[in-house]
Amino acid sequence: MNKITIAIDGFSSTGKSTVAKRLAKHLGYTYVDSGAMYRAVTWYAMKHNFINRERFDVDSLVSHLDDIHISFVFNKDVGFAEVYLNDENIEKYIRSLEVSSFVSRVAEVSEVRSQLVKQQQKLGKVKGVVMDGRDIGTVVFPNAELKLFLTASPENRAKRRFSELVKKGDAVLYDDVLKNVEGRDYIDSHRKDSPLIKAEDAIEIDNSNMSKDEQFHVILDIVNRKLKENA
Ligand code: C5P
Repeated sequence: MNKITIAIDGFSSTGKSTVAKRLAKHLGYTYVDSGAMYRAVTWYAMKHNFINRERFDVDSLVSHLDDIHISFVFNKDVGFAEVYLNDENIEKYIRSLEVSSFVSRVAEVSEVRSQLVKQQQKLGKVKGVVMDGRDIGTVVFPNAELKLFLTASPENRAKRRFSELVKKGDAVLYDDVLKNVEGRDYIDSHRKDSPLIKAEDAIEIDNSNMSKDEQFHVILDIVNRKLKENA
């Protein structure tokens, strides 16, 4: 059966990566978490003090972009590829609320976007890829055979993200998580370069009232139909 490219976009914490990972595993496809790449650049900027609560030194970050090497290495114990920054596994650092509070500002920078989009296109050159993010169906793979756009109410999304963070042992407040989710949605949807919008040919799925399993099966049905069309 012919392999296809699956682009999954949507608002923050809509469960894109959970379903994308499961889908990739089920199909034997490669999964690429493009958000992890923006988070890796943000982590680098924080470590070098290019971004903090007071200021964001965009020029310094842009002038160091060539020093930032991001890779994904499959970890068979967890069943997915973890993100590395200059050969250091940074998976456990990049999902914190602190990184989340800066990432959308870093993702607004056009130079950062063009560098990462190039890498994402390279990773998806061979068909058989599931990639999730904000501009995958519009900018990274405008010719993807299947585009999905996930939505859910902000409260539902914040609740999910809050319990994930608490499970990991992060001391966070629900209100801060909700503020972060809404703040990122706003910046991501209003930025000049590649704003988060639904591609015209994307299928929208509101998963507010779906369990993870239900959502997976709804999406798997859509994928199977698409695979038949492309057979
Ligand atoms: O998907 P995740 O929530 O990890 O993404 C973190 C942030 O990275 C998003 O809020 C957005 O600002 C940025 N991002 C983006 N384009 C993508 C993926 C993520 O701008 N393709």
